[in-house]
Amino acid sequence: MIPNSRQNRLDAGWRFDNTYARLPEAFYARIDPVPVHAPELVVFNAALARTLGLNPNVLKGEEGASVFSGNTIPQGAEPLAQAYAGHQFGSFTVLGDGRAILLGEQLTPEGERFDIQLKGSGRTPFSRRGDGRAALGPMLREYLISEALYALGIPTTRSLAVVTTGEPVYRETALQGAILTRTASSHLRVGTFEYAAARSNPAELRTLADYAIHRHFPHLAADANPYLALVAEVLDRQASLVATWMLTGFIHGVMNTDNTALSGETIDYGPCAFMDVFDPNTVFSSIDLHGRYAYGKQPQIVQWNLTRFAEALLPLIHEDPEGAVEMAQGKLSRFPDTFRNYWIAGMRAKLGLIDQEADDSILAEDLLNILQRQRADFTNTFRGLASDSLPDAAIFQSRDFKEWFERWQARRKRQPNSLESSRRLMKTSNPAVIPRNHLVEEALEAAVEQADFTVMERLMEALSQPYLEPPEEAGYHLPPPPSAQPYRTYCGT
Ligand code: AMP
Ligand code: MG
Repeated sequence: MIPNSRQNRLDAGWRFDNTYARLPEAFYARIDPVPVHAPELVVFNAALARTLGLNPNVLKGEEGASVFSGNTIPQGAEPLAQAYAGHQFGSFTVLGDGRAILLGEQLTPEGERFDIQLKGSGRTPFSRRGDGRAALGPMLREYLISEALYALGIPTTRSLAVVTTGEPVYRETALQGAILTRTASSHLRVGTFEYAAARSNPAELRTLADYAIHRHFPHLAADANPYLALVAEVLDRQASLVATWMLTGFIHGVMNTDNTALSGETIDYGPCAFMDVFDPNTVFSSIDLHGRYAYGKQPQIVQWNLTRFAEALLPLIHEDPEGAVEMAQGKLSRFPDTFRNYWIAGMRAKLGLIDQEADDSILAEDLLNILQRQRADFTNTFRGLASDSLPDAAIFQSRDFKEWFERWQARRKRQPNSLESSRRLMKTSNPAVIPRNHLVEEALEAAVEQADFTVMERLMEALSQPYLEPPEEAGYHLPPPPSAQPYRTYCGT
Protein backbone atom coordinates (compact mmCIF):
# COMPACT_ATOMS: atom_id res chain seq x y z
CA MET A 1 0.00 0.00 0.00
CA ILE A 2 1.22 3.50 -0.81
CA PRO A 3 1.53 5.59 2.36
CA ASN A 4 -0.92 8.47 2.45
CA SER A 5 1.67 11.24 2.23
CA ARG A 6 3.10 9.71 -0.94
CA GLN A 7 -0.35 9.34 -2.47
CA ASN A 8 -1.05 13.00 -1.83
CA ARG A 9 2.24 13.97 -3.37
CA LEU A 10 1.37 12.11 -6.51
CA ASP A 11 -2.09 13.56 -6.91
CA ALA A 12 -1.99 16.84 -8.80
CA GLY A 13 -5.65 17.46 -8.02
CA TRP A 14 -7.13 17.42 -11.52
CA ARG A 15 -10.89 17.06 -11.52
CA PHE A 16 -12.02 17.51 -15.07
CA ASP A 17 -15.47 17.76 -16.48
CA ASN A 18 -15.95 18.25 -20.22
CA THR A 19 -19.34 19.81 -20.88
CA TYR A 20 -18.12 21.74 -23.93
CA ALA A 21 -17.13 18.42 -25.52
CA ARG A 22 -20.78 17.34 -25.24
CA LEU A 23 -21.93 20.13 -27.59
CA PRO A 24 -22.64 19.28 -31.24
CA GLU A 25 -19.46 18.30 -33.06
CA ALA A 26 -19.52 21.39 -35.23
CA PHE A 27 -18.29 23.42 -32.25
CA TYR A 28 -14.88 21.82 -31.92
CA ALA A 29 -12.30 19.44 -33.25
CA ARG A 30 -10.93 16.80 -30.92
CA ILE A 31 -7.18 17.02 -30.99
CA ASP A 32 -4.26 16.61 -28.59
CA PRO A 33 -1.57 19.22 -28.12
CA VAL A 34 1.50 18.57 -30.29
CA PRO A 35 4.28 17.32 -27.98
CA VAL A 36 7.34 19.51 -27.55
CA HIS A 37 11.01 18.68 -27.33
CA ALA A 38 12.24 19.93 -23.96
CA PRO A 39 9.58 21.58 -21.81
CA GLU A 40 10.66 23.65 -18.85
CA LEU A 41 8.32 25.33 -16.39
CA VAL A 42 9.50 28.94 -16.10
CA VAL A 43 6.57 30.64 -14.36
CA PHE A 44 3.98 28.99 -12.15
CA ASN A 45 1.07 30.58 -10.30
CA ALA A 46 0.93 28.54 -7.09
CA ALA A 47 -1.82 30.69 -5.55
CA LEU A 48 -4.09 30.21 -8.55
CA ALA A 49 -3.27 26.49 -8.60
CA ARG A 50 -4.48 26.25 -5.01
CA THR A 51 -7.80 27.98 -5.75
CA LEU A 52 -8.27 25.53 -8.59
CA GLY A 53 -7.79 22.65 -6.20
CA LEU A 54 -4.42 21.74 -7.72
CA ASN A 55 -1.38 20.74 -5.73
CA PRO A 56 1.46 23.21 -6.41
CA ASN A 57 4.04 20.86 -4.93
CA VAL A 58 3.24 18.25 -7.53
CA LEU A 59 2.96 20.65 -10.43
CA LYS A 60 5.81 23.04 -9.82
CA GLY A 61 8.46 20.69 -11.21
CA GLU A 62 8.76 18.21 -14.04
CA GLU A 63 5.16 17.07 -13.84
CA GLY A 64 4.00 20.65 -14.36
CA ALA A 65 6.39 21.05 -17.29
CA SER A 66 4.97 17.92 -18.85
CA VAL A 67 1.29 18.78 -18.33
CA PHE A 68 1.51 22.50 -19.13
CA SER A 69 3.42 21.79 -22.35
CA GLY A 70 0.80 19.30 -23.49
CA ASN A 71 3.26 16.39 -23.41
CA THR A 72 1.13 14.62 -20.79
CA ILE A 73 -2.65 14.79 -20.86
CA PRO A 74 -3.98 14.86 -17.31
CA GLN A 75 -6.49 12.21 -16.38
CA GLY A 76 -10.06 13.14 -17.26
CA ALA A 77 -9.17 15.81 -19.83
CA GLU A 78 -10.72 15.62 -23.30
CA PRO A 79 -8.53 17.93 -25.39
CA LEU A 80 -10.14 19.89 -28.21
CA ALA A 81 -9.78 23.01 -30.31
CA GLN A 82 -12.83 25.26 -30.27
CA ALA A 83 -14.52 26.48 -33.43
CA TYR A 84 -15.55 30.12 -33.65
CA ALA A 85 -15.76 33.04 -36.01
CA GLY A 86 -15.33 36.73 -35.45
CA HIS A 87 -15.33 40.22 -36.84
CA GLN A 88 -11.69 41.25 -37.01
CA PHE A 89 -11.39 45.01 -37.46
CA GLY A 90 -14.96 44.94 -38.71
CA SER A 91 -14.66 42.05 -41.21
CA PHE A 92 -16.24 38.66 -40.69
CA THR A 93 -13.85 35.67 -40.68
CA VAL A 94 -14.15 32.04 -39.63
CA LEU A 95 -11.40 31.43 -37.07
CA GLY A 96 -11.21 28.80 -34.31
CA ASP A 97 -8.40 27.86 -31.94
CA GLY A 98 -5.44 27.89 -34.29
CA ARG A 99 -2.89 27.60 -31.54
CA ALA A 100 -4.81 26.66 -28.44
CA ILE A 101 -6.20 23.48 -26.92
CA LEU A 102 -8.89 23.29 -24.28
CA LEU A 103 -7.95 20.46 -21.94
CA GLY A 104 -11.30 20.56 -20.17
CA GLU A 105 -13.06 22.22 -17.25
CA GLN A 106 -11.45 21.97 -13.84
CA LEU A 107 -13.96 21.71 -10.99
CA THR A 108 -12.64 23.55 -7.96
CA PRO A 109 -13.15 22.66 -4.29
CA GLU A 110 -15.53 25.66 -4.12
CA GLY A 111 -17.67 24.09 -6.83
CA GLU A 112 -16.61 26.50 -9.55
CA ARG A 113 -15.72 25.51 -13.10
CA PHE A 114 -12.75 26.86 -15.04
CA ASP A 115 -11.57 26.12 -18.56
CA ILE A 116 -7.94 25.03 -18.66
CA GLN A 117 -6.47 26.06 -21.98
CA LEU A 118 -2.99 25.67 -23.42
CA LYS A 119 -2.04 28.50 -25.75
CA GLY A 120 0.81 27.90 -28.21
CA SER A 121 0.24 24.14 -28.16
CA GLY A 122 0.68 23.33 -31.85
CA ARG A 123 -1.30 23.18 -35.04
CA THR A 124 -5.02 22.39 -35.13
CA PRO A 125 -7.56 22.10 -37.96
CA PHE A 126 -8.13 25.86 -37.46
CA SER A 127 -4.50 26.95 -37.80
CA ARG A 128 -4.84 28.18 -41.38
CA ARG A 129 -1.31 29.27 -42.29
CA GLY A 130 -0.12 29.67 -38.70
CA ASP A 131 2.34 27.35 -36.96
CA GLY A 132 0.16 26.88 -33.89
CA ARG A 133 2.96 28.12 -31.68
CA ALA A 134 3.73 31.13 -29.51
CA ALA A 135 6.90 32.94 -28.48
CA LEU A 136 8.05 33.34 -24.89
CA GLY A 137 7.83 37.15 -24.72
CA PRO A 138 4.12 37.43 -25.62
CA MET A 139 3.15 34.53 -23.34
CA LEU A 140 4.94 36.14 -20.39
CA ARG A 141 3.28 39.40 -21.32
CA GLU A 142 -0.19 37.82 -21.15
CA TYR A 143 0.74 36.18 -17.83
CA LEU A 144 1.92 39.44 -16.32
CA ILE A 145 -0.84 41.73 -17.56
CA SER A 146 -3.74 39.34 -16.98
CA GLU A 147 -2.61 38.76 -13.40
CA ALA A 148 -2.21 42.52 -12.94
CA LEU A 149 -5.80 43.06 -14.09
CA TYR A 150 -6.97 40.38 -11.71
CA ALA A 151 -5.26 42.14 -8.80
CA LEU A 152 -6.85 45.43 -9.87
CA GLY A 153 -10.23 43.75 -9.51
CA ILE A 154 -10.98 43.66 -13.24
CA PRO A 155 -12.75 40.51 -14.49
CA THR A 156 -10.26 38.53 -16.55
CA THR A 157 -8.99 35.17 -17.69
CA ARG A 158 -6.00 34.19 -15.58
CA SER A 159 -2.60 32.65 -16.10
CA LEU A 160 -1.51 29.47 -14.41
CA ALA A 161 1.84 28.69 -15.99
CA VAL A 162 4.30 29.38 -18.76
CA VAL A 163 6.59 26.66 -20.10
CA THR A 164 9.33 27.06 -22.64
CA THR A 165 9.24 24.34 -25.27
CA GLY A 166 12.93 24.02 -26.13
CA GLU A 167 11.90 24.62 -29.74
CA PRO A 168 12.31 27.79 -31.77
CA VAL A 169 9.39 29.62 -33.34
CA TYR A 170 10.10 31.60 -36.46
CA ARG A 171 8.72 35.10 -36.71
CA GLU A 172 10.94 37.86 -38.15
CA THR A 173 13.72 36.06 -36.32
CA ALA A 174 13.94 32.77 -34.42
CA LEU A 175 12.43 33.13 -30.94
CA GLN A 176 12.07 30.78 -27.98
CA GLY A 177 8.82 28.86 -28.13
CA ALA A 178 6.51 28.86 -25.11
CA ILE A 179 3.07 27.75 -24.00
CA LEU A 180 0.79 29.64 -21.64
CA THR A 181 -1.80 27.83 -19.52
CA ARG A 182 -4.76 30.08 -19.13
CA THR A 183 -7.90 29.67 -17.09
CA ALA A 184 -11.26 31.22 -17.92
CA SER A 185 -14.78 30.87 -16.64
CA SER A 186 -15.32 29.80 -20.24
CA HIS A 187 -13.99 30.53 -23.70
CA LEU A 188 -17.45 31.24 -25.14
CA ARG A 189 -17.14 34.36 -27.22
CA VAL A 190 -19.43 36.57 -29.27
CA GLY A 191 -17.59 34.91 -32.16
CA THR A 192 -18.77 31.46 -31.05
CA PHE A 193 -22.35 32.65 -31.63
CA GLU A 194 -21.48 34.27 -34.93
CA TYR A 195 -20.01 30.94 -35.99
CA ALA A 196 -23.21 29.11 -34.98
CA ALA A 197 -25.42 31.67 -36.71
CA ALA A 198 -23.39 31.48 -39.93
CA ARG A 199 -24.06 27.74 -40.10
CA SER A 200 -27.79 28.50 -40.41
CA ASN A 201 -28.67 25.64 -38.11
CA PRO A 202 -31.15 26.95 -35.54
CA ALA A 203 -31.03 23.76 -33.47
CA GLU A 204 -27.26 24.10 -32.99
CA LEU A 205 -27.59 27.79 -32.21
CA ARG A 206 -30.22 27.05 -29.59
CA THR A 207 -28.10 24.32 -28.04
CA LEU A 208 -25.19 26.76 -27.77
CA ALA A 209 -27.34 29.51 -26.27
CA ASP A 210 -28.88 27.10 -23.76
CA TYR A 211 -25.37 25.94 -22.87
CA ALA A 212 -24.19 29.53 -22.28
CA ILE A 213 -27.24 30.27 -20.13
CA HIS A 214 -26.82 27.10 -18.12
CA ARG A 215 -23.10 27.68 -17.62
CA HIS A 216 -23.03 31.42 -16.91
CA PHE A 217 -26.49 32.77 -16.21
CA PRO A 218 -28.69 29.90 -14.98
CA HIS A 219 -31.23 32.37 -13.55
CA LEU A 220 -32.17 33.36 -17.13
CA ALA A 221 -33.54 29.92 -17.95
CA ALA A 222 -36.83 30.80 -16.28
CA ASP A 223 -37.16 34.10 -18.17
CA ALA A 224 -40.10 34.46 -20.58
CA ASN A 225 -37.55 35.07 -23.37
CA PRO A 226 -34.22 33.67 -22.16
CA TYR A 227 -32.36 34.55 -25.38
CA LEU A 228 -33.37 38.19 -25.23
CA ALA A 229 -32.46 38.17 -21.56
CA LEU A 230 -29.08 36.71 -22.55
CA VAL A 231 -28.44 39.73 -24.76
CA ALA A 232 -29.27 42.05 -21.87
CA GLU A 233 -27.10 40.12 -19.42
CA VAL A 234 -24.04 39.97 -21.66
CA LEU A 235 -24.52 43.66 -22.41
CA ASP A 236 -24.51 44.41 -18.72
CA ARG A 237 -21.33 42.40 -18.08
CA GLN A 238 -19.51 43.97 -20.99
CA ALA A 239 -20.61 47.50 -20.08
CA SER A 240 -19.29 46.93 -16.58
CA LEU A 241 -16.05 45.42 -17.88
CA VAL A 242 -15.26 48.20 -20.31
CA ALA A 243 -16.05 50.77 -17.61
CA THR A 244 -13.32 49.20 -15.44
CA TRP A 245 -10.90 49.41 -18.37
CA MET A 246 -11.72 53.08 -18.85
CA LEU A 247 -11.28 53.77 -15.15
CA THR A 248 -7.80 52.23 -15.06
CA GLY A 249 -6.51 53.38 -18.45
CA PHE A 250 -6.44 49.89 -19.93
CA ILE A 251 -6.51 49.59 -23.70
CA HIS A 252 -7.38 46.11 -24.92
CA GLY A 253 -6.06 46.87 -28.37
CA VAL A 254 -7.82 44.19 -30.40
CA MET A 255 -11.49 44.17 -29.49
CA ASN A 256 -12.53 41.83 -32.27
CA THR A 257 -15.74 39.93 -31.59
CA ASP A 258 -13.77 36.70 -31.09
CA ASN A 259 -12.01 38.48 -28.23
CA THR A 260 -15.24 39.47 -26.46
CA ALA A 261 -16.12 36.82 -23.87
CA LEU A 262 -19.70 36.07 -22.83
CA SER A 263 -18.61 35.81 -19.21
CA GLY A 264 -17.56 39.47 -19.19
CA GLU A 265 -13.91 38.59 -18.57
CA THR A 266 -11.08 40.38 -20.32
CA ILE A 267 -9.71 37.88 -22.83
CA ASP A 268 -6.86 37.62 -25.34
CA TYR A 269 -3.98 39.73 -24.24
CA GLY A 270 -2.21 40.66 -27.43
CA PRO A 271 -1.37 44.29 -28.09
CA CYS A 272 -3.01 45.55 -24.89
CA ALA A 273 -1.31 48.21 -22.76
CA PHE A 274 -1.98 50.79 -20.09
CA MET A 275 -2.07 54.45 -21.02
CA ASP A 276 0.38 56.78 -19.24
CA VAL A 277 -0.58 60.30 -20.39
CA PHE A 278 -4.36 60.73 -20.55
CA ASP A 279 -5.46 60.97 -24.16
CA PRO A 280 -8.61 59.27 -25.49
CA ASN A 281 -6.91 58.84 -28.88
CA THR A 282 -4.17 56.65 -27.45
CA VAL A 283 -3.42 53.57 -29.58
CA PHE A 284 -0.45 51.28 -28.96
CA SER A 285 -1.13 48.42 -31.37
CA SER A 286 1.07 48.46 -34.45
CA ILE A 287 -1.71 47.00 -36.59
CA ASP A 288 -4.48 49.36 -35.46
CA LEU A 289 -3.69 51.88 -38.17
CA HIS A 290 -6.96 53.78 -37.99
CA GLY A 291 -7.35 53.79 -34.23
CA ARG A 292 -10.47 51.61 -34.30
CA TYR A 293 -9.53 50.27 -30.86
CA ALA A 294 -8.24 53.52 -29.32
CA TYR A 295 -8.78 54.02 -25.58
CA GLY A 296 -11.70 56.40 -26.02
CA LYS A 297 -13.45 54.21 -28.61
CA GLN A 298 -13.74 51.14 -26.40
CA PRO A 299 -17.33 51.72 -25.20
CA GLN A 300 -18.69 52.24 -28.70
CA ILE A 301 -16.73 49.26 -30.03
CA VAL A 302 -18.07 46.92 -27.39
CA GLN A 303 -21.56 48.15 -28.23
CA TRP A 304 -20.84 47.28 -31.87
CA ASN A 305 -19.68 43.81 -30.79
CA LEU A 306 -22.81 43.35 -28.70
CA THR A 307 -24.87 44.22 -31.75
CA ARG A 308 -23.15 41.36 -33.61
CA PHE A 309 -24.05 39.12 -30.65
CA ALA A 310 -27.70 40.12 -30.74
CA GLU A 311 -27.76 39.66 -34.52
CA ALA A 312 -26.52 36.10 -34.13
CA LEU A 313 -29.32 35.37 -31.65
CA LEU A 314 -32.16 36.93 -33.68
CA PRO A 315 -33.65 33.61 -34.86
CA LEU A 316 -34.03 32.56 -31.22
CA ILE A 317 -35.40 35.87 -29.98
CA HIS A 318 -38.53 35.85 -32.11
CA GLU A 319 -39.77 33.89 -35.10
CA ASP A 320 -40.73 37.08 -36.90
CA PRO A 321 -37.39 38.62 -38.02
CA GLU A 322 -38.62 42.21 -37.77
CA GLY A 323 -40.07 41.63 -34.33
CA ALA A 324 -36.77 40.04 -33.26
CA VAL A 325 -34.78 43.06 -34.47
CA GLU A 326 -37.05 45.44 -32.62
CA MET A 327 -36.76 43.46 -29.41
CA ALA A 328 -32.98 43.23 -29.70
CA GLN A 329 -32.70 46.94 -30.42
CA GLY A 330 -34.73 47.65 -27.32
CA LYS A 331 -31.99 45.98 -25.26
CA LEU A 332 -29.03 47.35 -27.23
CA SER A 333 -30.29 50.91 -26.92
CA ARG A 334 -29.73 50.63 -23.18
CA PHE A 335 -26.00 50.28 -23.61
CA PRO A 336 -24.99 53.97 -23.36
CA ASP A 337 -26.87 54.49 -20.08
CA THR A 338 -25.75 51.18 -18.65
CA PHE A 339 -22.12 51.93 -19.45
CA ARG A 340 -22.43 55.45 -18.16
CA ASN A 341 -23.86 54.26 -14.84
CA TYR A 342 -20.95 51.90 -14.27
CA TRP A 343 -18.48 54.54 -15.33
CA ILE A 344 -19.82 57.31 -13.13
CA ALA A 345 -20.06 54.97 -10.14
CA GLY A 346 -16.37 54.15 -10.63
CA MET A 347 -15.48 57.80 -11.16
CA ARG A 348 -17.23 58.81 -7.96
CA ALA A 349 -15.09 56.30 -6.08
CA LYS A 350 -11.94 57.60 -7.78
CA LEU A 351 -12.88 61.11 -6.67
CA GLY A 352 -13.78 60.05 -3.15
CA LEU A 353 -17.47 60.83 -3.59
CA ILE A 354 -19.62 58.62 -1.45
CA ASP A 355 -23.01 60.16 -2.19
CA GLN A 356 -24.38 61.27 -5.56
CA GLU A 357 -25.00 64.64 -7.17
CA ALA A 358 -26.33 65.23 -10.65
CA ASP A 359 -23.26 67.20 -11.75
CA ASP A 360 -20.71 64.59 -10.72
CA SER A 361 -20.11 63.47 -14.28
CA ILE A 362 -19.37 67.07 -15.29
CA LEU A 363 -16.87 67.34 -12.45
CA ALA A 364 -15.19 64.13 -13.58
CA GLU A 365 -15.15 65.09 -17.24
CA ASP A 366 -13.74 68.52 -16.51
CA LEU A 367 -10.85 66.89 -14.70
CA LEU A 368 -10.22 64.54 -17.62
CA ASN A 369 -10.18 67.49 -19.99
CA ILE A 370 -7.57 69.19 -17.85
CA LEU A 371 -5.50 66.00 -17.80
CA GLN A 372 -5.65 65.82 -21.57
CA ARG A 373 -4.68 69.47 -22.06
CA GLN A 374 -1.85 69.18 -19.55
CA ARG A 375 -0.72 65.82 -20.92
CA ALA A 376 -0.77 64.56 -17.37
CA ASP A 377 -0.25 60.98 -16.23
CA PHE A 378 -3.64 59.31 -15.71
CA THR A 379 -2.69 56.94 -12.88
CA ASN A 380 -0.46 59.32 -10.95
CA THR A 381 -2.85 62.26 -11.15
CA PHE A 382 -5.70 60.30 -9.57
CA ARG A 383 -3.41 58.70 -7.02
CA GLY A 384 -2.01 62.15 -6.27
CA LEU A 385 -5.51 63.44 -5.51
CA ALA A 386 -5.81 60.69 -2.90
CA SER A 387 -2.71 61.78 -0.98
CA ASP A 388 -2.81 64.01 2.09
CA SER A 389 -1.15 66.89 0.28
CA LEU A 390 -0.92 67.20 -3.48
CA PRO A 391 2.36 65.89 -4.88
CA ASP A 392 4.72 68.04 -6.88
CA ALA A 393 3.42 67.58 -10.44
CA ALA A 394 2.94 70.21 -13.14
CA ILE A 395 -0.79 69.59 -13.51
CA PHE A 396 -1.44 70.51 -9.89
CA GLN A 397 0.14 73.94 -10.47
CA SER A 398 -2.03 74.85 -13.45
CA ARG A 399 -4.74 77.48 -13.07
CA ASP A 400 -7.37 75.17 -14.64
CA PHE A 401 -6.61 72.56 -12.09
CA LYS A 402 -6.70 74.97 -9.15
CA GLU A 403 -10.18 76.11 -10.14
CA TRP A 404 -11.31 72.53 -10.52
CA PHE A 405 -9.75 71.65 -7.16
CA GLU A 406 -11.88 74.30 -5.39
CA ARG A 407 -15.05 72.84 -6.91
CA TRP A 408 -14.02 69.33 -5.95
CA GLN A 409 -13.21 70.36 -2.38
CA ALA A 410 -16.58 72.09 -2.06
CA ARG A 411 -18.29 69.00 -3.45
CA ARG A 412 -16.54 66.70 -0.99
CA LYS A 413 -17.46 68.96 1.94
CA ARG A 414 -21.13 68.78 0.98
CA GLN A 415 -21.19 65.05 1.66
CA PRO A 416 -21.86 63.77 5.16
CA ASN A 417 -18.77 61.57 5.34
CA SER A 418 -15.43 62.59 6.74
CA LEU A 419 -12.59 63.65 4.48
CA GLU A 420 -10.72 60.71 5.87
CA SER A 421 -13.29 58.17 4.66
CA SER A 422 -13.33 59.90 1.28
CA ARG A 423 -9.55 59.55 1.08
CA ARG A 424 -9.71 55.90 2.10
CA LEU A 425 -12.16 55.22 -0.71
CA MET A 426 -9.83 56.97 -3.16
CA LYS A 427 -6.86 54.93 -2.04
CA THR A 428 -8.68 51.71 -2.83
CA SER A 429 -10.04 53.03 -6.13
CA ASN A 430 -6.89 54.59 -7.62
CA PRO A 431 -3.99 52.19 -8.08
CA ALA A 432 -0.52 53.29 -7.04
CA VAL A 433 1.08 50.86 -9.45
CA ILE A 434 0.02 49.55 -12.87
CA PRO A 435 1.95 47.44 -15.37
CA ARG A 436 3.50 50.40 -17.14
CA ASN A 437 4.79 49.60 -20.58
CA HIS A 438 8.44 50.32 -19.90
CA LEU A 439 8.35 48.17 -16.75
CA VAL A 440 6.73 45.30 -18.62
CA GLU A 441 9.36 45.56 -21.36
CA GLU A 442 12.19 45.59 -18.85
CA ALA A 443 10.81 42.49 -17.10
CA LEU A 444 10.28 40.60 -20.36
CA GLU A 445 13.68 41.51 -21.69
CA ALA A 446 15.44 40.16 -18.61
CA ALA A 447 13.40 36.96 -18.81
CA VAL A 448 13.73 36.38 -22.54
CA GLU A 449 17.30 37.62 -23.13
CA GLN A 450 18.96 36.61 -19.86
CA ALA A 451 16.64 33.91 -18.53
CA ASP A 452 16.40 36.15 -15.47
CA PHE A 453 12.82 35.95 -14.17
CA THR A 454 13.50 37.89 -10.98
CA VAL A 455 12.72 41.28 -12.56
CA MET A 456 9.28 39.99 -13.58
CA GLU A 457 8.74 38.37 -10.17
CA ARG A 458 9.51 41.61 -8.33
CA LEU A 459 7.23 43.61 -10.59
CA MET A 460 4.44 41.07 -10.20
CA GLU A 461 4.81 41.20 -6.45
CA ALA A 462 4.08 44.95 -6.50
CA LEU A 463 1.29 44.50 -9.05
CA SER A 464 -0.39 41.91 -6.84
CA GLN A 465 -1.24 44.72 -4.40
CA PRO A 466 -1.76 47.65 -6.72
CA TYR A 467 -3.50 49.84 -4.17
CA LEU A 468 -0.51 49.84 -1.81
CA GLU A 469 2.43 52.17 -2.38
CA PRO A 470 5.18 50.18 -4.08
CA PRO A 471 8.68 50.45 -2.59
CA GLU A 472 9.91 53.93 -3.52
CA GLU A 473 13.32 52.75 -4.71
CA ALA A 474 11.81 50.39 -7.30
CA GLY A 475 10.55 53.41 -9.23
CA TYR A 476 7.40 51.54 -10.29
CA HIS A 477 5.31 54.67 -9.79
CA LEU A 478 7.36 56.77 -12.21
CA PRO A 479 6.03 57.59 -15.65
CA PRO A 480 8.05 56.24 -18.58
CA PRO A 481 11.34 57.92 -19.45
CA PRO A 482 11.20 59.84 -22.77
CA SER A 483 13.37 57.11 -24.34
CA ALA A 484 10.54 54.59 -23.88
CA GLN A 485 8.17 56.55 -26.14
CA PRO A 486 6.38 56.24 -28.46
CA TYR A 487 5.44 52.76 -27.35
CA ARG A 488 4.27 50.11 -29.82
CA THR A 489 2.67 46.73 -29.16
CA TYR A 490 2.31 43.70 -31.37
CA CYS A 491 -0.28 40.95 -31.58
CA GLY A 492 2.18 38.31 -30.48
CA THR A 493 1.32 35.69 -33.08
P1 AMP B 1 -5.89 36.46 -31.80
O1 AMP B 1 -5.32 37.63 -32.52
O2 AMP B 1 -4.95 35.88 -30.76
O3 AMP B 1 -7.25 36.70 -31.28
O4 AMP B 1 -5.99 35.30 -32.87
C1 AMP B 1 -6.83 35.37 -34.00
C2 AMP B 1 -6.88 34.03 -34.69
O5 AMP B 1 -5.59 33.68 -35.22
C3 AMP B 1 -7.28 32.88 -33.80
O6 AMP B 1 -8.06 32.00 -34.57
C4 AMP B 1 -5.97 32.25 -33.45
O7 AMP B 1 -6.08 30.90 -33.09
C5 AMP B 1 -5.19 32.41 -34.74
N1 AMP B 1 -3.74 32.41 -34.54
C6 AMP B 1 -2.99 33.36 -33.95
N2 AMP B 1 -1.69 33.00 -33.96
C7 AMP B 1 -1.60 31.79 -34.55
C8 AMP B 1 -0.53 30.89 -34.84
N3 AMP B 1 0.73 31.18 -34.54
N4 AMP B 1 -0.84 29.74 -35.46
C9 AMP B 1 -2.10 29.44 -35.77
N5 AMP B 1 -3.15 30.24 -35.54
C10 AMP B 1 -2.91 31.40 -34.92
MG1 MG C 1 -8.54 35.80 -30.21
